[in-house]
Amino acid sequence: MNIENVLSLVRPNIASMMPYSTARDEYKGTIGICLDANENPFNSGFNRYPSTSLKERVRTLVSQKKGISPQHIFLGNGSDEAIDLCYRIFCVPGKDNAIGISPSYGMYSVCASINDVEYRTVSLNDDFSLPVEKLLASADENSKLLFLCSPNNPTANAFPVEELLDIVRRFKGIVIVDEAYIDFSSTKSLLPLLDEHPNLILLQTFSKAYGLAGLRIGMAFAAAPIISLFRNVKYPYNIGTDTLELAEKLLQKDVEEQRDIILKERTRVSQLLPAFSCVKRVYPSEANFLLVKVTDAQALYQHLLRGEVIVRDRSKVPLCESCLRITIGTPEENKRMLALFTEFDKQQIENSQKPTI
Ligand SMILES: *Cc1c(COP(=O)(O)O)cnc(C)c1O
Repeated sequence: MNIENVLSLVRPNIASMMPYSTARDEYKGTIGICLDANENPFNSGFNRYPSTSLKERVRTLVSQKKGISPQHIFLGNGSDEAIDLCYRIFCVPGKDNAIGISPSYGMYSVCASINDVEYRTVSLNDDFSLPVEKLLASADENSKLLFLCSPNNPTANAFPVEELLDIVRRFKGIVIVDEAYIDFSSTKSLLPLLDEHPNLILLQTFSKAYGLAGLRIGMAFAAAPIISLFRNVKYPYNIGTDTLELAEKLLQKDVEEQRDIILKERTRVSQLLPAFSCVKRVYPSEANFLLVKVTDAQALYQHLLRGEVIVRDRSKVPLCESCLRITIGTPEENKRMLALFTEFDKQQIENSQKPTI
C-alpha cells in the first residue's frame, strides 16, 4: 500500500478539516510579553499554556532514544489516546469496522464502542499463535483498522515479525501493532521497518519498561502524513507542562538496570511456579508479566488478596480459563507472592485430608 491509498482511508470530515490553531502555534518565538492567550500574567509555575518548544524537546529526546525522526512521532496522553485517535481519524461511526485478536488488550474494543465502530474479534489459535488467514478473511470493504498487540496482553507471547508483516502487506487498511511490552521481548520492534509500510502504526508507551505509568505519556510512530492527522485531531494541549517537564528529566535516566532485574525475576519466578501443585502451567513470557494456569483461579486469587498481593484474575477470558496474570515485581515482592503460593498449597492439602463428615 502506498501513502495515497492510506490517505484515502481517512474519514472525509477529518481529511478536509481546518485544525485549531493555538496561540502557541502561531507565535513560535520564546521571548516577549505574552498577551496572546488570555493567560493569567502572574507566575504560578503553570500560568502559561504548555510551551511548544518544551514538547519539541521531549519529542527530540524520544527521537534520539528510538532512532527515528520527529516527524514520525506522536506523543499522547498515554498510548490509550493514540488508540482512540486511530478510530476518530479513520472510522466513520456506524459504518466502518475494526478487527482485533482475542484475547488482547481491552482498550481496542472499548474505544470502538465509544466511537460507535463495530469491533470484530478473531480468536487466537489454542497455542496463542496468530490466525493470519482468519484475520484477513474477516475484513470487508469497511474494515479500516486491524489491531495487533505483540507481545500480547494477556497471553504474554510475541508474534513472529514475518507474520505481522504478512498482515501489514495484505490488509487493505491500517494495521496498528501495539508494542507496549517490546522492551521485555527478545523479538525485534517493527520500528526500523516503518518507512516500508505506510499503513503501519506502532504504539509504544513509557508506562511499562520506563516506569512512568503515572505520567501518562504514550507514543505512536507512523508515516509523517498520519502523524500530521494525529496532531490535527488531538486536543490542542494534550500533555501538560508538569508532565512534559518530568518526562524531559526522567527520560534521560537509564532503565536498563531495572529491566534486567525484571527479566531475571521473570525467569526465576517462571521456573519456581511449576513446582506448586496449584499451578498447572506457566506460559512463556516476552513481557513483564506471567500468565499462569492454576487449579482454582478464584480461590488462589482470594488467597493472594488476603495476603495483600493483588494479581489480575483472567479466568473468565477466552483461552485464559483458570488463569491469573501476575506482574513481575521487585525480588522482595515476588518472594511474598511465592510464599503465598506455598501457603495455598499447604491449605489445599490440609483441606483434602479433612474427614468428610
Ligand atoms: C499497559 C498497556 C498499554 C499502556 O497504555 P498507556 O495508556 O500508555 O499507559 C498499551 N497497550 C497495552 C497492550 C498495554 O498492556
